[in-house]
Amino acid sequence: MSQHKTVDVVLESVNGNKTKGTAEIDSFDDKERIARATRFAMMTMGLCIASIFVPIAHFFLVPFFFIASPVVFYVVSGQGAVIHSGSGICPECGKKMEISKGRAKFPMDDLCEHCKRPVKLLMP
Ligand SMILES: [Zn+2]
Repeated sequence: MSQHKTVDVVLESVNGNKTKGTAEIDSFDDKERIARATRFAMMTMGLCIASIFVPIAHFFLVPFFFIASPVVFYVVSGQGAVIHSGSGICPECGKKMEISKGRAKFPMDDLCEHCKRPVKLLMP
């Protein structure tokens, strides 16, 4: 079963300013990773089948989703833990920023939605 946990993260700007934040992380065991990757790949294959019925666009949508399906499986099966939400104080502008969703691999890069400056997320 996936484990849900809240972890403290450090947000660091390119100037070296640091602030704190939290991130909600879901971690998956091997069986769940494969099941999750299969689900995402099947959704992509479903889009492949559904795009057969789209006139003209099916000439590139069908091969695109057909090729994307194993790529999606490979990418998602490599995600042992994902950030599904989080927030912190931007070290540059001082406003509250949302931490973007994605693979939980620290250090990771993010962007403040207020000042558009790069922020590096680190584990304390
Ligand atoms: Zn900012």
